[in-house]
Amino acid sequence: METGTAEEVFNSPSHPYTQGLLNCIPIPGKTKRGAHLGSIAGIVPSLVGEMLGCHFASRCSYAGPDCQTGKIEMRRARQAGHEYRCVLPPEVCAKNRKRASAA
Ligand code: SF4
Repeated sequence: METGTAEEVFNSPSHPYTQGLLNCIPIPGKTKRGAHLGSIAGIVPSLVGEMLGCHFASRCSYAGPDCQTGKIEMRRARQAGHEYRCVLPPEVCAKNRKRASAA
């Protein structure tokens, strides 16, 4: 769903799933002891049968009609070599990233 250097992906995750995963782990020096860690709601979809659209759509809070069918193409993030498979443009991903890290 997302590819790039570790530094780029960890510091600027673009895909909602990557953002969700990183929100689930404590950050040394930032996460306070006893703080509530995030989670990704929903159930992992069955791998049996053909899946149309985004494989994360049933669990993504940003999912829309374009996510349900067809092939989701890779998009370039802000750095060359950093790509993610999502219908959301990079500027929207950046806003979502800020919103997720503030929660
Ligand atoms: S393609 Fe749609 S459902 Fe999949 S991660 Fe992007 S916004 Fe969410």
